[in-house]
Amino acid sequence: MCPGADLLGAGVPRDESPTPTIVRSYPTVAYVITEPCIGTKDHACVDVCPVECFYEGPDQLFINPDECIDCDACRPECPVDAIFPDTDVPSEWEKYIQKAVDVFKKGDLKVAITREKWEKEKGVAGTAANSYYQNYKK
Ligand code: SF4
Repeated sequence: MCPGADLLGAGVPRDESPTPTIVRSYPTVAYVITEPCIGTKDHACVDVCPVECFYEGPDQLFINPDECIDCDACRPECPVDAIFPDTDVPSEWEKYIQKAVDVFKKGDLKVAITREKWEKEKGVAGTAANSYYQNYKK
């Protein structure tokens, strides 16, 4: 007899055995911003968040996992489809889940500014928005 056969129980057909659960090893967060935000930083997401939990990172925006309430308001606003619930992050971008946790450990990120303000700053030399697009010209 096969060594694991007794785990199935007598008389239980093989195709009715329980489906194994896949356990992912990243932290539980909420909504996660992924790679397409880098070089984009559109900020449309910031304007619709009811709890103002978007923060300015040097290369992308971040959602504070302790503040996000999973409302889904931001996801459809992103023009580059960079935002996902943590359970739906594409496998090639799973590293952004850990990044979203680690970036808040230092506690030095500033709350993201509105899209209107960001757009105004783009053309003003010396502002964060202007510097950003100088660095991330596509
Ligand atoms: Fe804000 Fe809702 Fe998006 Fe969370 S899911 S970042 S609370 S808009």
